[in-house]
Amino acid sequence: MHTAEPYGGFEQGPIRPPSESGSLLIRVTRNCPWNRCTFCGLYKGASFSQRPVAHVLRDIDTVGRFADMLAPPKGGAGAADGGVLSAPGHLERSEQMALSAARNWLLAGARSVFLQDSNSLIIKPDHLIAILQHLKATFPGIERITSYARSQTIARISDQDLARMAAAGLNRIHIGLESGCDRILARIKKGADQQTHILAGCKVKQAGMELSEYFMPGLGGRALSREHALESAEALNRINPDFIRLRTLAIPDTIELAGEVASGSFEKMGDRAVAEELLLFLQSLAGISSQMKSDHILNLFEEIDGVLPDNRDRMVAVIERFLAMAPEEQVLYQIGRRTGIFRRLDDCRDPRLRCQAQGYVDQWMATPENVDQICDLLMQRFI
Ligand code: SF4
Repeated sequence: MHTAEPYGGFEQGPIRPPSESGSLLIRVTRNCPWNRCTFCGLYKGASFSQRPVAHVLRDIDTVGRFADMLAPPKGGAGAADGGVLSAPGHLERSEQMALSAARNWLLAGARSVFLQDSNSLIIKPDHLIAILQHLKATFPGIERITSYARSQTIARISDQDLARMAAAGLNRIHIGLESGCDRILARIKKGADQQTHILAGCKVKQAGMELSEYFMPGLGGRALSREHALESAEALNRINPDFIRLRTLAIPDTIELAGEVASGSFEKMGDRAVAEELLLFLQSLAGISSQMKSDHILNLFEEIDGVLPDNRDRMVAVIERFLAMAPEEQVLYQIGRRTGIFRRLDDCRDPRLRCQAQGYVDQWMATPENVDQICDLLMQRFI
């Protein structure tokens, strides 16, 4: 017999895209309904579930109640940075979480909401629309509501339902394209091929929502690097997403891909090879007006940020400059970037930052031969 799940209080999931750091996080589902991608360990061992819509609406009401308490009184000083915030030690843990979410959201401007976890569009369209409508009714000032979604899921939703979601306020979707190469997509068990990615991306745009596609440099390994760059660019050229976001492959021991590395069936690329792949990818994007974003800590180049095609040359020049550096200078930049000392290539010229990065190069005895192994270990801290 089915037992109704009791409400366990306000919930938040483990992640959001970096660009949603100022968003209110509303958990619609838990974990990932697919959970098979070999490069992803986020939800391994955690089972997927949909939260009852009534519970999601209660979460929204709870945040709304705290937001009302914290909002500045008309004509008076704001309370979001004081007042009630220091008082409610009597709140339950989940209420404390909701209070903290409301406070952080108000401080960030209370303009955007991100629906968690990994694929909110898998729930019934009517349920999602009820949540969107409740969000809009509770917070009329919201400008953006965003969600992750899988291409395979979007491909199955009718254009009419997507348009209804957009009309109810869902106006940005983040999709993990990862690659546009079918051989890689099959190998990493993405559960979508290039055609499905293109279909889903075009459907999102046709519904009038903004589209953000994630590309994962390095995912083809050495063997499929060229196909990865060219066929991913080909897919994105067909979609013309609003944003193309980079998230470089990292391989912690806990993911399935680590086993392929151990067995020798996947050869992970070093930073220099990934930079060459990224250069080919950027040079192959054509006829689109997407904004490139490198807003993930795992990326070697934070400076790849600009609108195509106008800023392509500037972005290409960043990679070419790195590739033209002397090997020891590349090592210094890699270590400086992976330790968070450098944010851009020009930081290598700052004597203070350079000295800090050189300290680590010396301490770890980093050389052009071992720097990628050192960086692999450093990157695991960010996963
Ligand atoms: S669909 Fe996304 S969250 Fe799920 S396993 Fe793949 S990458 Fe991870």
